[in-house]
Amino acid sequence: MYRIGSGIDFHQLVEGRDLWIGGIKIPHAKGALGHSDADVLLHAICDAMLGALALGDIGMHFPDTDPAFKGIDSKILLAKTFSLIRKKGYSLVNIDSTLCLEAPKIKPHADKMRETIAAITELPLDAVSIKATTTEKMGFAGREEGLVAMATVLLKKDMEAA
Ligand code: MG
Repeated sequence: MYRIGSGIDFHQLVEGRDLWIGGIKIPHAKGALGHSDADVLLHAICDAMLGALALGDIGMHFPDTDPAFKGIDSKILLAKTFSLIRKKGYSLVNIDSTLCLEAPKIKPHADKMRETIAAITELPLDAVSIKATTTEKMGFAGREEGLVAMATVLLKKDMEAA
């Protein structure tokens, strides 16, 4: 009836790229490097949904060697992943997530991210959680060389038609 999934993603932060997190563009001196728009949070959520149904990972479904996904808006990848789990007869119950980065501050943008993710995944706003932490200046995230996102999702099987 219920399936749980977890996802984690990492991207480098570099100058000359836009910073997309949670489906929105955040003004910042650096952006995430990747084949797509490199939205670390949406990628972690996609992986969590795929993991819940043992459907592999985002790299299998949307390979970074495929030119079709070059520069792609990760909201499209999230929508495609969501439609995959719907086709398998599941819907989402809730999403919890944590971003790990030194800068920028996530809090001013978190509600917009939550609204964006909730709209794509057909969830009420109070079923989409986005938390953020720093690493207290330690490691690659602390040096602002990269960022991390972790996500957990719960899926529920649709009721069988009587
Ligand atoms: Mg990624």
